[in-house]
Amino acid sequence: MLLEVKDINVYYGVIHAIKNVSFEVNQGEIVALIGANGAGKTSIMHTISGLIRSRSGSIHFDGKDISKVASHKIPGLGLVQVPEGRHVFTEMTVLENLEMGAYLRKDKENIQKDLEKVFKRFSRLEERKNQLAGTLSGGEQQMLAMGRALMSKPSLLLLDEPSMGLSPILVNEIFDIIKSINKDGVTVLLVEQNANKALSIADRAYVLETGNVIVSGQAKEVADNPKVKEAYLG
Ligand code: ATP
Repeated sequence: MLLEVKDINVYYGVIHAIKNVSFEVNQGEIVALIGANGAGKTSIMHTISGLIRSRSGSIHFDGKDISKVASHKIPGLGLVQVPEGRHVFTEMTVLENLEMGAYLRKDKENIQKDLEKVFKRFSRLEERKNQLAGTLSGGEQQMLAMGRALMSKPSLLLLDEPSMGLSPILVNEIFDIIKSINKDGVTVLLVEQNANKALSIADRAYVLETGNVIVSGQAKEVADNPKVKEAYLG
């Protein structure tokens, strides 16, 4: 098991946003967390990456309890988040953004090789490597945010709504890339409102509703669940 989230509870003032949520991600898997707006997906991501704290429970990554580790130390452990809305450095070039992804690495000699790999995977980024990131299209910024995360050599990649705001063709492209990143050995936790797409590439899935996990299982089983079909698959 690479990530084990156990009984976490998140509050915003009196709002109990995450209620006793538990789930796990095994090495090599793609796991999807799906749910409607406000279900609590982003709150869970932020709790894992240390941006907000759970009042109880635990979060173990690679056997280590990270629930009290400072958020800026978490990427160095191999757990890297691509946040919703991408957050690329808009005033820096594509290349500079990618280099920023590698700033914590100690194996400096391999960085160039990994940069070439990122450019191979995202050819649009190579074509635009000297362009300011703020001038990229939404899909290109998503690719850059993913490429930057890969430059830090994560063992677990947290992707928060990678399909948001993208055209259907680009959504397919991004999901194909997620699959190929996973094939290359990166474990993926994917948060998505686009349940159809997320379930089509995930091994397992958890469905969230108002801060609770209401259904979980193999992605195929979840996709066949009548309740999920009616509420999330249209
Ligand atoms: P979306 O897909 O719309 O981003 P989500 O599933 O990621 O939704 P969260 O953003 O985690 O959901 O929000 C879960 C609940 O917590 C919502 O009811 C939201 O209004 C509430 N919430 C989130 N952040 C805060 C905050 N900073 N202060 C108060 N309430 C918050």
